[in-house]
Amino acid sequence: EVAVLRLGHRPGRDDRMTTHVGLTARALGADGVVFGPEASSPADTVRDITDRFGGPFDVEVTDSPKAVIRDWDGVVVHLTMYGLPVQDVEGDLRDALDDRTPVLFVVGAEKVPFDVYERADHNVAVTNQPHSEVASLAVTLDRLFDGRELDREWEDADRTVVPKETGKKVEDTSGER
Ligand code: SAM
Repeated sequence: EVAVLRLGHRPGRDDRMTTHVGLTARALGADGVVFGPEASSPADTVRDITDRFGGPFDVEVTDSPKAVIRDWDGVVVHLTMYGLPVQDVEGDLRDALDDRTPVLFVVGAEKVPFDVYERADHNVAVTNQPHSEVASLAVTLDRLFDGRELDREWEDADRTVVPKETGKKVEDTSGER
């Protein structure tokens, strides 16, 4: 199991970023995303995309994101520019996945409280440069799954994109449910 927790959300300002954390988690192989109580609108968007483009993908909203981290029965990985390079940690993360240990990735919005750094089993950086929670999540998931997530099949999709060299083709696959 691989889950992503979005810690912190400023309604309005963070709506797109939080939505993109969820969409990226879904597209790149995580099993689910957990949002905090302020992020019900991004949660609705990600659920809607999952309904249309397929799953399975679990979207949760919790009153207590901190409790999710505290009580996680597995490995907690906090993505932060201050952490250890992902290329040095990815082997440990893959071992955890191979052992069927649930892995929780935590990404922040604004300043992440220090107790998260302390609770995390790994503080992991995708470069030690400031950039984005969406980018760091994407690179880390791709490293973890070693590219296999790119070939994932989707279940119960109403819409399926047919890859085209040029133009857009989307098939109605709702009848195949
Ligand atoms: N300045 C804030 C802090 O010190 O906690 C973080 C702001 S940053 C825009 C939002 C999130 O992006 C961070 O919480 C982290 O999860 C992620 N992030 C930004 N740069 C990163 C990097 N180089 N490696 C991993 N994650 C990163």
